[in-house]
Amino acid sequence: MNNPDPQVETLVDLNAIAHNVRILAEHAGDAAVMVVVKADGYNHGAVEVGRAAIAAGARELGVTTLEEAVALRAAGITAPILCWLNTSDADFASGIAADIEIAVPSVAHLEAVAAAARRVGRTATVSLKVDTGLNRNGVSATEYPQVLALLRQLVDEQVVRFRAIFSHLAHADSPHHPTIDIQRDRFLECIAAAKEQGLQPELVHLANSAAALTRPDLAFDMVRPGIAVYGLSPIPEISDFGLRPAMTFRARVALVKRVAAGEGVSYGHEWIAEHDTTVALIPAGYADGVPRTLGGRFDVWLGGERRPNIGRVCMDQLVVNLGENASGVREGDTAILFGGEGFPHAQEWADTLGTIHYEIVCAPRGRVIRTYIGGE
Ligand SMILES: *Cc1c(COP(=O)(O)O)cnc(C)c1O
Repeated sequence: MNNPDPQVETLVDLNAIAHNVRILAEHAGDAAVMVVVKADGYNHGAVEVGRAAIAAGARELGVTTLEEAVALRAAGITAPILCWLNTSDADFASGIAADIEIAVPSVAHLEAVAAAARRVGRTATVSLKVDTGLNRNGVSATEYPQVLALLRQLVDEQVVRFRAIFSHLAHADSPHHPTIDIQRDRFLECIAAAKEQGLQPELVHLANSAAALTRPDLAFDMVRPGIAVYGLSPIPEISDFGLRPAMTFRARVALVKRVAAGEGVSYGHEWIAEHDTTVALIPAGYADGVPRTLGGRFDVWLGGERRPNIGRVCMDQLVVNLGENASGVREGDTAILFGGEGFPHAQEWADTLGTIHYEIVCAPRGRVIRTYIGGE
């Protein structure tokens, strides 16, 4: 057969991305939507997701590094792009030249951006990332007055255009957690302090996916969702919010064979056949993003039903038990490791492993080929 489907694949549904963006836009009301496509679009493809999101009504894109931002611009995306986590010696000039909005978390960063703007001979667009209680990235309360003073000077000199103030929540996935209101109050104080310096932000934003879906009072001028865009609920215990998972992780059966009662399967023979059985070999392992610690604790969808993984997950492969009801499963058939409705869900892997689905969808890599359906 010519052009068979890839052996191991993440299939990304751009129509699901568009659907999820529309759900987020409904929740946002009058606020705009910035879609976060950091880490290559949570491993879904930043450029393709970015394009689909803009087409579906998102206004801006957000990423972590300058390199990620410049790559989106190089791919022809003209929407505003914000990046928010760079070392202070990063190549800010490349971002300024590509009209990337740069978030600064310190005086040192702001000085470096200003120096780059002077060198390039272009005004840099800068946002303030303020720390309101996450105590991770963002301007600390102690340094904030100095940052404002320097920013005021740079705006006056037209070295910098002041775009936005934004912050990030620590407990957004617990919508009634008291720290959320504390962070909101500190955020409002930061905005007020900037205005006292004559620094009027064009917009302010605070809400990630969880807040965008559960705290409409925190939408401000723009919401900044990531995970929900990819169709995974930021608070699965509350609701799926009508989101559709965009990623299907699948692989094609490499081998079907009989295993006799009493035989052990895979390294260490952790699974022993009680009866004669039929097994299928799936060419996906921990090098492809199937965690080894999942071994024997998950099902794949194959031949119209769930089939349990048996024995250890290896670097390149895993085995599933078809039992006596092999349903005509044949070599070349497609097994779904996780995907959308009706299939095993990334959340199940996360629950089993004691992690979050964010980490699960970021895992497929290496030999895994990414393909797309939907979109224009
Ligand atoms: C990753 C990130 C987001 C998106 O968070 P989700 O929980 O995926 O919606 C928003 N803002 C910042 C600053 C981030 O780092």
